Amino acid sequence: MITSTTNPQPADFADVRATNLAVVLRFVREHAPCSRADIAASTGLNKATVSSLVADLIDRRLVRETGLTENRVGRPATMLVLDGSPYAAIGVEVNVDYVTAVAVDLAGERLLSWRRSFPGPDGSTGQAVAAVAAIVRRVVSRMAKQERQVLGLTVGVPGLVGTDGTVLIAPNLGWRDADLAGDLAKALRDPGFAVQVENDANLAALAEHRFGSQAGTANLVYLTGEIGVGAGIILDGRIRRGGRGYGGEIGHIQLDPLGAECRCGRTGCLEAVAGIGAVLRHAPLSPAEVEIELDEVARLARAGDARTLGLLAEVGRQLGKGVAVVANLLNPEVVILGGYYVPLAPWLLPAVEDEARGRTIAPEGGGCRVVASTLGYDAAALGGAARVLDSVDSGRLPRVS
Ligand SMILES: [Zn+2]
Repeated sequence: MITSTTNPQPADFADVRATNLAVVLRFVREHAPCSRADIAASTGLNKATVSSLVADLIDRRLVRETGLTENRVGRPATMLVLDGSPYAAIGVEVNVDYVTAVAVDLAGERLLSWRRSFPGPDGSTGQAVAAVAAIVRRVVSRMAKQERQVLGLTVGVPGLVGTDGTVLIAPNLGWRDADLAGDLAKALRDPGFAVQVENDANLAALAEHRFGSQAGTANLVYLTGEIGVGAGIILDGRIRRGGRGYGGEIGHIQLDPLGAECRCGRTGCLEAVAGIGAVLRHAPLSPAEVEIELDEVARLARAGDARTLGLLAEVGRQLGKGVAVVANLLNPEVVILGGYYVPLAPWLLPAVEDEARGRTIAPEGGGCRVVASTLGYDAAALGGAARVLDSVDSGRLPRVS
């Protein structure tokens, strides 16, 4: 028998208020322009409560009244929209030799997108923290000039990130047991906003869920197409990290016991046989060199070069085996291929879909579509900003200044 030593407590008034503020904010995000009456009718909150909540959101400058009214029976209703102007959410992606920073306003409008070179695996963790802090300080200063308050910062890292934000291991960066969030908050001298760290694939999935061509899809898996391959998994509208936060390491599922050696020391891992390294003639390469080589691969494929088409079909079939694992296990509505897979998608996708359908027990791959990302190379950084907006939408509202 399961017993509990604590009796259930009534919800705190402040908690109820914060929850209701979040409900109204999300409604305005999804349905703006909308009226107070629309909010009351759809949320079940009474009109007086809605008026009080809206007044609070207007005080916090999260919502504003438009000049527009909608003519209804009776009085015309004043319409409400999100007020993006006073705030910014920042996302940063750390990669092997570059760091990307993105800032968006509350409504998700892009305010800036910067890419800078980065010390990468040759530098110490301290140098890496200093480099990330430097770009963040410049973004914060730009936002301050626009009189925007920073709502938060999320940094994406290609590696295992614990639920507490510690980077357990980021093999391509040479990091182990790095308290990136803590070190960064120190380097930024207590910046007055939350600093969070997250796996890059999880962030890219969040970006797709909020901003991508498949936005709003409740069951979505994003596969990073870098030298490494990771999965960001969204089920029932929520990111799934697993017990310690290390889920989604699809790159190290063994597809072929006799396959190529993986950087992890095992053989035939998905990323060894279907990562972008399997397409390139030379390894390891810098991202700039990878892009040049991929342009050449795409050119040869367009020209109908038989060897190139054969190679892409084989990589597509291997990737399809991985997608079938995802489809059989999670039954997502869509699998999105990101990173370097995007420019090769016209040749990869047919083989991926064919193989995945053939290996999925449910008919038609369980309804799972496979598409290429449309968000570009800063998807993970954009997802960092999306994660900040997600926490505002779930009730962590900025204080009235
Ligand atoms: Zn491996």
